[in-house]
Amino acid sequence: MNYRHSYHAGNFADVLKHVVQCVALRYLQNKEKPFWVLDTHAGIGMYDLTGEEATKTGEAMAGVARLLERSDVPAAIAPYVEAVKQLNENGELRWYPGSPWLSALHLRPQDSLILCEKHPQDSLLLAANANEFPAARQIKVMTATDGYAALKALVPPPQKRGMVLIDPPFEQRDEFEQIVAALTAGVRRWATGTYAVWYPIKDPLVVGDFHQKVKVIRGVEQVYVMDLLVRSATDASRFNGCGMLFINPPYGLTEQATTIMNYLTPLLAQDQGAEYQCLWL
Ligand code: SAM
Repeated sequence: MNYRHSYHAGNFADVLKHVVQCVALRYLQNKEKPFWVLDTHAGIGMYDLTGEEATKTGEAMAGVARLLERSDVPAAIAPYVEAVKQLNENGELRWYPGSPWLSALHLRPQDSLILCEKHPQDSLLLAANANEFPAARQIKVMTATDGYAALKALVPPPQKRGMVLIDPPFEQRDEFEQIVAALTAGVRRWATGTYAVWYPIKDPLVVGDFHQKVKVIRGVEQVYVMDLLVRSATDASRFNGCGMLFINPPYGLTEQATTIMNYLTPLLAQDQGAEYQCLWL
């Protein structure tokens, strides 16, 4: 396990993922009934952008830093920007919220959050950080735990409402297959849950193949994808973009998708050929 998210925190991929995560969480808040969130690949929860790892790559400069300079952010993206600002009260961008912190921020007293992280040391860091998060007592951290196994074991949640976030590092060649297997097992046990998956786009054909495999999982009916290319994908060995796939997207998210992507695509573009697609599969 060599991947460390601290090298990439706040990059263009985090921006898309976390903007959409915040929108989804806000729709879950629309009903009083409690919701439950499982973050299968949680990372350490928050990141110091002035730390050695983040400054080495500078990826946040082409991601969240671009967004914070803008004064014309659409309403769908504003809650994410506000969340980042909340972590950086003196106005300087230093701390970047990971998906666990963003989920924690949206928890109401009746809601709960489960965080899984497999890396032994990072999972201890996550547990220490989560103690300081908003709604800390409603958060359970599963240290040194495989997120896919946790998904299988924990769904359906007692609340019967909520979301599973799947955000693997794609260090393994068969990561897409592992995701499809996990979704198959999850949907078999909990067909009405929302499942949100982040994935990198190198070769768009590989991603198209993944979309089709999800679409035909037994019990899956509603699948929506938001794909962003930050440059044309002519070189399939490069990290050309990323996407979010939703099974059972929260009501309302898809109505905001085009607004979000119309805004983020030129903002996060790194070269010619930046474009997006949002569609129901
Ligand atoms: N979701 C986080 C966020 O948005 O802030 C970032 C997660 S990072 C892309 C992926 C994380 O998954 C890494 O911290 C890695 O150690 C962890 N990981 C890798 N394989 C795992 C597995 N099978 N189960 C749980 N965590 C895993």
